[in-house]
Amino acid sequence: MPHWCPGCGDFGIWMALKQAISQLDIPRENYVIVSGIGCGSKMPHWIKTYGIHSLHGRPAPVASGVHLANHKLTIIVIGGDGDGYGIGMGHFVHLLRRNYNLLYILQNNQVYGLTTGQTSPTSDSGYCSISTPEGVLETPVNPIQLAIAGGATFVARSFAGDIKHLSDMITRGIQHKGTAILDVLQPCVTFNKKNTYQWYQQRIHKLEEEPGYDPSNKLTALEAALAWEDRIHIGLYFKEERPTYEDRLPQLNDLPLVKQPIEEVPVEELLNRLR
Ligand code: SF4
Repeated sequence: MPHWCPGCGDFGIWMALKQAISQLDIPRENYVIVSGIGCGSKMPHWIKTYGIHSLHGRPAPVASGVHLANHKLTIIVIGGDGDGYGIGMGHFVHLLRRNYNLLYILQNNQVYGLTTGQTSPTSDSGYCSISTPEGVLETPVNPIQLAIAGGATFVARSFAGDIKHLSDMITRGIQHKGTAILDVLQPCVTFNKKNTYQWYQQRIHKLEEEPGYDPSNKLTALEAALAWEDRIHIGLYFKEERPTYEDRLPQLNDLPLVKQPIEEVPVEELLNRLR
């Protein structure tokens, strides 16, 4: 059983992820969950699929390697805001450009929980923690705008306190062909005393209930992502169809790399070229 603090938003994400996986018609052995380091990054240990618990900020490159080796697998990357939007920020941005077919869930609790409550890249300005006792001076990273500007072809947000909505977003992210980014607002009940369940519940509005909202319009999506202190949108912000990275590699048309016959690869010749 997970040993997260009682009430942690990771429980909601765990439930929603299991629900989505059990509802989709994809064999368990086809999933690989790749995580970084953080409280929620322990997720692969508690879901009966294949999984890799990788390094801090590095789930994106590890997942990219798995994907390039076998692009027929269903890959879910999972990690926190400090992991993905801070330490792994460079990897995050380059992942977006490539448009691999995978889902990246970012557990955004606006704090470093595992290391006992330091300010993270998404902590609100003025937020007080043990690392910023006088309050954060910087402007927080806006994950939705960053993902859209970086080239993600599916950008959504959900809330760990709404398992039905979250499970639906995870399902749609898995079904999307291309890189799907799902930012999940996840209360850290132990260290973040500002962004609580109640704080989110008072502000959250669903984009799908906004009259006329069109997720194919990039400019509207960027504008919707500006809302924060008084009103926060969850749902599908932006979606477009674009060829995936592997679509552009004719060598992968028939078989994934891992299934291709190695006898036909001129290993000696390749090695000679490198000598
Ligand atoms: Fe969850 Fe925060 Fe506890 Fe970590 S420290 S398990 S994020 S409540």
